[in-house]
Amino acid sequence: MATNGSPAESAPALGGKAYPITDHTYDVVVVGAGGAGLRAAVGCAEAGLKTACISKVFPTRSHTVAAQGGISASLGNMGPDDWRWHMYDTVKGSDWLGDQDAIEYLCRNAPAAVYELDHWGVPFSRTEAGKIYQRPFGGMTTDYGKGTAQRTCAAADRTGHAILHTLYGQALKSKCAFFIEYFAIDLIRDSEGAVRGLVALKLDDGTIHRFRAQTTVLATGGYGRAYFSATSAHTCTGDGNAMALRAGLPLQDMEFVQFHPTGIYGAGCLITEGSRGEGGYLVNSAGERFMERYAPSAKDLASRDVVSRSMTLEIREGRGVGKNKDHIYLHLDHLDPKVLAERLPGISDSARIFAGIDVTKEPIPVLPTVHYNMGGIPTNYHGEVLTKVGGDPDAVVPGLMALGEAACVSVHGANRLGSNSLIDLVVFGRAAGLRAAERLKAGDRQAELARDSADYALSRLDRFRNAKGRTPTAALRLEMQKVMQSDCAVFRTASSLEEGQKKIHAAWAAGADVGVTDRSLIWNSDLVETLEYDNLIVQAVVTMEGALNRQESRGAHAREDFPNRDDVNWMKHTLAWVDPERKAVKLDYRPVHTYTMSNDISYIEPKARVY
Ligand SMILES: Cc1cc2nc3c(=O)[nH]c(=O)nc-3n(C[C@H](O)[C@H](O)[C@H](O)COP(=O)(O)OP(=O)(O)OC[C@H]3O[C@@H](n4cnc5c(N)ncnc54)[C@H](O)[C@@H]3O)c2cc1C
Repeated sequence: MATNGSPAESAPALGGKAYPITDHTYDVVVVGAGGAGLRAAVGCAEAGLKTACISKVFPTRSHTVAAQGGISASLGNMGPDDWRWHMYDTVKGSDWLGDQDAIEYLCRNAPAAVYELDHWGVPFSRTEAGKIYQRPFGGMTTDYGKGTAQRTCAAADRTGHAILHTLYGQALKSKCAFFIEYFAIDLIRDSEGAVRGLVALKLDDGTIHRFRAQTTVLATGGYGRAYFSATSAHTCTGDGNAMALRAGLPLQDMEFVQFHPTGIYGAGCLITEGSRGEGGYLVNSAGERFMERYAPSAKDLASRDVVSRSMTLEIREGRGVGKNKDHIYLHLDHLDPKVLAERLPGISDSARIFAGIDVTKEPIPVLPTVHYNMGGIPTNYHGEVLTKVGGDPDAVVPGLMALGEAACVSVHGANRLGSNSLIDLVVFGRAAGLRAAERLKAGDRQAELARDSADYALSRLDRFRNAKGRTPTAALRLEMQKVMQSDCAVFRTASSLEEGQKKIHAAWAAGADVGVTDRSLIWNSDLVETLEYDNLIVQAVVTMEGALNRQESRGAHAREDFPNRDDVNWMKHTLAWVDPERKAVKLDYRPVHTYTMSNDISYIEPKARVY
């Protein structure tokens, strides 16, 4: 048997076929080295728990590195602020689908989490007085919607880069063990339903590793790459979400996909909302600042779903810009070039490289682009994964936590506010570390894993490695991405969703004919992309099914045939399970938490959402 933390060889699985296994035992295994995974790993390791962090890419290449605009917290450095105002904005932004106990936890713990990052060395931009600089962001207000808040802390427009590098340094210092360029294939769940660890492939030498842990943490990020045009990295394939589905667990609220208003037209790269926070504005082909019509008070700083829909309507009604009238202009050229150089240097570069324009002189061509997944693995505010068992909608799955974009706590509900993801990563990453420290005993004896515990993961790996079908993975992926982009986008309607449902199920079935040409196990990108595609397609299917099922408009889910929010019938979370063998989806619901965590604030009653 492996001792805590040290690897040991064990018997080959799959009836002695060619997959010898190296075993590892830890108290906690974190999958993912983005902001969420690293913050959790630091907390667990510092609590004395033997902690491993597994990542398919080098930690500082995780998508968190690309975050630009900033991280929200009611520090009040630029004017009065209060965590209760932040909470109000987040509840309203979520279109009342967020769980208010979790939102309270997020907003009241946000300032401490930002100060912790500051003390760990994140080089935040500063005010003249030396305080952390904060900029306005969409949907962030003061005094329960009355004024504009300056709440988003930034390190120029490279905030994620600064945070990720700092957290990686802290994780190394905390003696967390890193398994870098290991690809997690599947969870190990025992006969009682507890998660006991996972199986991973070491990408550079093809060896198989089985991790046994008291607690496994999935911090594997979002699945933006289910769509054709996304701001997220090619690695954002939601592997943890798919691992949860295959382990028989549900995903929550997957129909809510955020389109960021300002992806660069064509390339899809992000131009941060911080650019509008610094005074940028959108115009149509008539040169009109059209957001004034759709959101008279917040204008260009209305929340993302509202701005994306307004842009789409302008284009549909013939007021798009460019040769094909199919995009919108974002003006920054009226801003002081000194402000652009100091506060927005990264996007000035992106606009030059990907749109060939000089932001000090010309507008940037932009289009709403897939940016964030509100849905994911349901958890409570300690990071513990939930499932519905019998009449209990909040049953904790023993041994499993989920964090960051992979999780659905749910603080973002039907629509996330800009700068609320980075704060979600560190607040709940920290919460998970605290919970693990409270619940686990370092070095506690763990029961042996069943001899066949790796078989499920390995037979899946083996099947794809030897897949001899006629359709390359790239063709399957393109078909899925196009279906999602055209039939499950900013506006949805029964006919497009029914069409999309047929097509996405056809794409899922077509996977039976996948062909992989490289049979090796060493740096086999064909094989890894096939595993990633297989992860994406189940998430695409539940996204489409959830969207077709939800007969209302709420947050990012805008149904043309059901234009209003329906709190009587639909103020509830969707849960979706998948049977990958029978290719079947089951939907059910969980109630939204309509209560707060403490008596410091009362439940925020639903009302119409206007900006
Ligand atoms: C361009 C861009 C800009 C953004 N800007 C902001 C912003 O300014 N403010 C804000 O609040 N939010 C922003 N967001 C959103 C925010 O950055 C993300 O939601 C957040 O960083 C996700 O962090 P994470 O830790 O959950 O996952 P990620 O950072 O995506 O990391 C996922 C980790 O999981 C690992 N992993 C995944 N699958 C496997 C596997 N099978 N095996 C092993 N490891 C695996 C990866 O290697 C990686 O380490 C932005 C997003 C984008 C795309």
